[in-house]
Amino acid sequence: MNTYNGQNDFSLCLPDGSYMPRLGQGTWQMGEEKLKLKSEINALEYGLQLGMNLIDTAEMYADGVAEMITGEAIRGKNRGDVFLVSKVLPQNAEEDLIFDSCERSLRYMGVETLDLYLLHWRETADLSQVVYSMEKLIRQGKIKRWGVSNFDTEDMEDLFKVPDGKNCAINQVLYNLGSRGIEYDLMPWQREHKIPFMAYCPIAQGGSLKEALLNNRNVLETAKKHQVTPIQLVLGFVLRHEDMAAIPKAVGMEHLRQNAESRFIQLDEEDIERLSLDFPAPTRKIPMEKV
Ligand code: NDP
Repeated sequence: MNTYNGQNDFSLCLPDGSYMPRLGQGTWQMGEEKLKLKSEINALEYGLQLGMNLIDTAEMYADGVAEMITGEAIRGKNRGDVFLVSKVLPQNAEEDLIFDSCERSLRYMGVETLDLYLLHWRETADLSQVVYSMEKLIRQGKIKRWGVSNFDTEDMEDLFKVPDGKNCAINQVLYNLGSRGIEYDLMPWQREHKIPFMAYCPIAQGGSLKEALLNNRNVLETAKKHQVTPIQLVLGFVLRHEDMAAIPKAVGMEHLRQNAESRFIQLDEEDIERLSLDFPAPTRKIPMEKV
């Protein structure tokens, strides 16, 4: 078995009928400092033990070092237990460059096949060419399926117009309680076309928004009601969507434990209404947020 073959009660059904884990681990900003590599590898391994058996990485992250530490973290493990995602940069998605990029990602991670390969963002990428190459990578056995990232509704519409564009497995986008723009039009569009989501920055990454979220009275009260931390609540808010996976990045062991536990949070309508008082669902089109 050279790809993920698991399914559990916290999986998401992909358009091809296969399953992927709904809670995984991000790797952005890992691999950047030599002294931290060991703790980052340990963190990914611990996250896998805790059941967060999807790892999201990209050729861009630390120029491939994030892919290397992902490879270290999964070395010796059963390949079928981990769902591996990587991303190609738009400038490397042109013509034959994508084949070199994919080959390099596989080599860095020490695997034969990726479970999912994403176009990192659209920029000027020729969508027909990208889809053609992605389909070829599937036929070559290098990737199991492909998807996109940072695609807004118009981008998805354009994608669906190119040959085989409808084979897209997922769209990875920024989404959290403080950034709900996709709920206005992208979410309904993808639901109509049965394309699931992967939420990046699901806990708002840190910085000013995270502070605003974490000090919000309604967030604190709702977290208290569920006996979880405000960050866990924010993650639970994302994971309440059954067609959405989340990939929080964490190196702190306590952070990892908390994130894994967030699977069990069950928010009700009243909770969502309370959280929406200060972080409302959009009532108009908001340009897609990106980092
Ligand atoms: P996140 O929203 O996952 O936030 C990560 C930060 O939150 C880290 O500082 C981490 O600290 C901290 N943290 C994690 N868990 C907890 C916790 N339980 N309590 C308190 N703090 C916590 O941001 P990211 O930007 O990393 O997004 C997640 C992943 O999404 C990325 O790593 C990457 O894989 C992907 N991504 C994709 C993009 C795209 O364009 N497709 C763009 C950006 C991200 P610590 O590490 O110290 O534990």
